[in-house]
This record gives sequence, C-alpha cells and structure tokens, in this order.
Amino acid sequence: MEIISFEKAFMTVINSAFSTGTERVSFTDSLNRVLAEDISSDIDIPPFNKATVDGFACRKSDLGIELDIIETIAAGNWPEKKISENQCSRIMTGAAVPEGADIVFMVEDSMILPSGKVRYTGTFSRENISIRGEDIKNGDSVLKPGKLIRPQDIAVMASVGCTKVIVSKMPRVAVISSGDELVEPDDKPGISQIRNTNAYQLMAQIQRAGARGKYLGIARDDEEATYNIVKRAISECDLVLITGGVSMGDFDFVPSVLERAGVRILFSRVNVQPGKPTTFGIHPEALVFGLPGNPVSSFIQFELLVRPLISKMMGNQFTPVTIPLPMKDSFSRKSADRQAWIPVIITKDGLISPIEYHGSAHISALALADGIIALPVGKKTIEKGELIGVRPI
Ligand code: AMP
Ligand code: MG
Repeated sequence: MEIISFEKAFMTVINSAFSTGTERVSFTDSLNRVLAEDISSDIDIPPFNKATVDGFACRKSDLGIELDIIETIAAGNWPEKKISENQCSRIMTGAAVPEGADIVFMVEDSMILPSGKVRYTGTFSRENISIRGEDIKNGDSVLKPGKLIRPQDIAVMASVGCTKVIVSKMPRVAVISSGDELVEPDDKPGISQIRNTNAYQLMAQIQRAGARGKYLGIARDDEEATYNIVKRAISECDLVLITGGVSMGDFDFVPSVLERAGVRILFSRVNVQPGKPTTFGIHPEALVFGLPGNPVSSFIQFELLVRPLISKMMGNQFTPVTIPLPMKDSFSRKSADRQAWIPVIITKDGLISPIEYHGSAHISALALADGIIALPVGKKTIEKGELIGVRPI
C-alpha cells in the first residue's frame, strides 16, 4: 500500500468519525465531557441590582453631604427602606441595592461622624452596582453544544440551575499490545524481554482525551491469538488501538489479522517520523488503529491522529494549541523527506531546545519533553532564533 502524507492520513481519520451518542449526567460529573445541548438561563444574573463592595448606598447627588444611616442590608436580605434625599443604607457586598440609591460608596471612602451620620470622603469613580441581568439575561444561551466542559463551565451550569446535562458518550477505546518480548510492568523482564509501556501510556492518553479505555492484554506474536483478541476488541469497543506488529518483520501479523477480522485498511504507511507504519482501517462496528510498537512513535501518533478523532466523535473540535517560540540553537536533520516531530524542552528563558533523543524507543526523553515541534517535508534546518510552534504534550 502506498505511503500517504500526514495531511491525507489526518483527513482520512477525521472523515471516518462516527458519533457515539449522548447521555444525561449530573453536572458535577460533567468535567472533561463534551456538552451535547444548548444551555440557557432561567433567571437574570445578577437577579437584582447588587452591591459589589461593602459600603453605603445613596443617591449620587448626595455624595457631598452628611447622610443619615436608615438601615443595614446584609447579603441575602431584601432592603426594607427606600433611599430618599440625605439618606443612605449600610450595605454589604452581594446585597440588593435599595430603591432610590444609584451608588454604593466604599467603607474605605467613608467617615462616621460623632452625630452618627456618615460622610463620603472619596473622589467619585464608579457606582459599585452590578445591574440586574448585566451578566446573563433570562433565556440567554450560556453554553453551546460541542464545548469541552471545564470547571468554569460547571460554575455557569450551577448559576443557571442546570444540574443535569446532556453530554456525548465517551467512546470506548480498546487497547491491545502485541509482542512475544513483552512482560507487564509488575514483572522483571527476562534476558530478551522488555516491559509493556505502550498499553499504559495509551490508557493514560485515552483518559486525557476524555474517552474510556479498556485494556485487553498482550497479544502474543501468533496469528490466531491476535485475531481472537482483535475480534473481541471490535465487538466490545468503538475504537481499537493495537500497538506493535505493524512493521515489516516476520511476526508483524497485525495488518493481515485486521483484514481477516473484516477491517478495511485505509492506510498503512504515513510519511511522518516517528510513526511511519501507522495503520488505520474501518469496520462496521469500530475504527481500528495499528500503532507503531515503539513507545515514542505510538505516543506521537496517538496525539496527532487518535486524539483529534476521539474529540470529533464526541462532537468537539480538538484544536491543539501551539506556542510560537524562538529556537535556542540551530537544528538540522539528515533527510527532509518526511514530516518530523521532535520532542523539545522550553528553557526558563522561553527558548526551544530539542532534547537528546536516541530514536523512537527513548521513552525517558519524551518524559523530559515539554512539547513537540514539527518540521514539514522539505525543511532540514531550523535556525537559531527562528520562531517555531511548540505543541505542549
Ligand atoms: P513491532 O512494531 O512489533 O516491530 O515493535 C517495534 C519495537 O517496539 C520493538 O522494539 C518492540 O519491542 C517495541 N514494542 C512493541 N510493543 C511495545 C510495547 N507495548 N511497549 C514497549 N515497547 C514495545
Ligand atoms: Mg512486535
């Protein structure tokens, strides 16, 4: 199968997304979920003209004179008296401003006189009143579908009394590792073995992407065993990620097993580094990725392809932030025929410095990285001081 550009691979993946449907959850459980309805307010916010400072409510035209204090209004209490000429009410932050008053002057700008009256000692700058409905009007839409829910959105839900929300269901994502050399992290690897890092890295990436991971274990390098676990993954999940077994080795069964399981492979080689053997296919019940066995490649291809797909399936447009920063030193690569992604650190002076990196198995290099930078096809060198977009990881 031909090698395709990263852009083409990305569009192929995104255009294969299907929706996993919606469900209703308590707003307290909605953090990191994607909103699937429009939320509107059932009240004006603030619901009354509200004092934004502790002080005295009076008429602006009376600021120059001594005022009688006719009432004290605590937050949560409704004013009983109307303000007339020469009058004010002591008022607390968050309390309703009494009728007749059009300013609240601060305690700090006041002086209580021996007579018990109060005088304004400041220079007028603002009213210190938040007007009813100035933040949100009754019926206003406050949150739109497709939004990734953050703590501040949960505050908005609380303020409009929306305690149940419709969110997209989390895609169920199966994770399978493959390889006879793998042992689980609890075990000490034997002479020819390594620990399975990808499955746990992927499970964490899936969680961070807002989906639900299901780890199905290690498929041994045996066609039948791999086939059985892949079949099970397809029937139980919306998305299947299998790592390893996609290169050109004698025991790389994954592409043939996927086809046997009814997966139509749409690409099996992408012009990127690391992660060239990334494979993607569709099945009526699930979308399937064969990710490279090398942990750095697997990590990066998940971020570049799988994470945006998960977001799309939940109705959210994943737009990675890239921060343009200058290079600390110049950087060159030998060949520029693939798009390259390079782990970098951001120095305390805000400069980008590629980290020493011995290739796609060097997982500890990735753990030091603050982000990754891309070098497009055809670009061999980045000059010292050149601005490059860093994508935080
Ligand atoms: P493969 O794609 O199976 O040829 O694997 C490529 C490289 O990645 C080999 O060095 C494997 O040992 C390594 N590898 C494969 N799967 C894993 C895994 N789950 N965790 C860590 N390394 C892996
Ligand atoms: Mg293998």
